[in-house]
Amino acid sequence: MCDKKTVLEPSRQIPVAGEYEVVIVGGGIAGVSAALAAARRGNRVVLLEKMYGLGGLATLGLVVVYLPICDGRGHQVCHGIAEELLHLSISHGWEDRYPDSWLVPGREAGRKEQRFEVQYNGQVFAILLEQLLRKEGVDILYGTAVCGLDREEDRVRGVFIENKSGRQALLGRSFVDATGDGDLCRLAGEETVVHEEGNPLAAWYCETIDGEYKLRIFGVSDLVRPGEEAEAISARRYIGLEGRELSEMVCESHDRVLEDYLSKGGVSRTHALSTIASIPMIRMTRRLRGRYEMREEDAFRRFEDSVGLVSDWRKRGPIFEVPFSALHGKCKNLITAGRCASAKGDMWDIMRVIPPCAVTGEAAGTAAAMTGDFSTLDVGRLQKRLRENGVKLHIEDLSMGKDDA
Ligand SMILES: Cc1cc2nc3c(=O)[nH]c(=O)nc-3n(C[C@H](O)[C@H](O)[C@H](O)COP(=O)(O)OP(=O)(O)OC[C@H]3O[C@@H](n4cnc5c(N)ncnc54)[C@H](O)[C@@H]3O)c2cc1C
Repeated sequence: MCDKKTVLEPSRQIPVAGEYEVVIVGGGIAGVSAALAAARRGNRVVLLEKMYGLGGLATLGLVVVYLPICDGRGHQVCHGIAEELLHLSISHGWEDRYPDSWLVPGREAGRKEQRFEVQYNGQVFAILLEQLLRKEGVDILYGTAVCGLDREEDRVRGVFIENKSGRQALLGRSFVDATGDGDLCRLAGEETVVHEEGNPLAAWYCETIDGEYKLRIFGVSDLVRPGEEAEAISARRYIGLEGRELSEMVCESHDRVLEDYLSKGGVSRTHALSTIASIPMIRMTRRLRGRYEMREEDAFRRFEDSVGLVSDWRKRGPIFEVPFSALHGKCKNLITAGRCASAKGDMWDIMRVIPPCAVTGEAAGTAAAMTGDFSTLDVGRLQKRLRENGVKLHIEDLSMGKDDA
């Protein structure tokens, strides 16, 4: 013991549980996309996930609306793994918002009105993601939290993990931070930015009411359309980076869910509280300040180092090229993907949803499979590989008319 505020953890030798070419931390959409991309390039890949299921917010968090992979003006913008996962999510059926003009031959005329988005079943999708990664040879380690990092100058040598086997180390050539919260970036001493405004409470849940299974989008939602009001269910906002605060947030959301569900009647065979989120429903917490910070004003701007395209889920029209320099910082073998990529202001809000997380995940995983030093990576070679996988890199790659932009 040192004093009443701190204790000295005894230093000890940590067993090395494995050595991989690519170590991915976080099994949400970004981590899954990165793992797929890296494994398909023949790398030895491990995916570390603290929960016991894949998909993160997009499955365990009940955020089951795959927001648009098109620009709202009839052009598909996200391709590659972002498109593949959308198809996978509804490969055994869908819950709602079926984009028939995009998926049913002969209905293409509706593409300018209908956006290419869909509502899927989160539980089915989580299992399908797991089966896909296993088929591609990704080593999945569930129940495994990364809680420390071994850094040597400007490189990560390994991560410390905690799971049922105790504390162990995993060594790697390159590392992908897909934690959503920039946990690895923080541990590696990268420059990070905290979303100080915090997050409003959301408490989505699934219920069976009058025998019909439904998603109840309860609390502030991303699905309100212009002119609609967001439904505030708490005055408190949450930052989401501190253990106690997150636990309070989850308890508050559970209280609100139960109240809301019971307001429609008690438990019966025709009225069930079917599923509640098993991870905190939190949008923006901490992100990397990378070599470049994407901005909303970058719409339609060409980036020579673009690794993919994304659209704006909030409004029709804008398309953004995602520069490779927004995915990494000073640490040579660490790259980010998903909601902790480097995007500021409203651009963070644009980049944190499912399709951009898949786009940045695919780019990060492909890059991680190619090198252990992102500062010297030949971006032209990376772009070639992404193109081979069907990814569109520049706005000019989309077949758009002159007046479309
Ligand atoms: C209320 C709400 C509504 C939303 N609505 C929509 C919507 O309608 N459509 C849409 O497209 N998007 C929506 N989003 C956004 C979207 O769901 C997420 O931002 C996106 O899925 C994030 O993907 P990700 O892989 O970056 O992160 P996450 O899904 O957060 O995945 C990160 C994973 O990393 C794991 N992890 C974290 N830290 C560690 C660690 N130290 N060690 C091991 N594992 C770790 C977590 O358990 C998690 O599984 C919404 C988000 C919220 C909160």
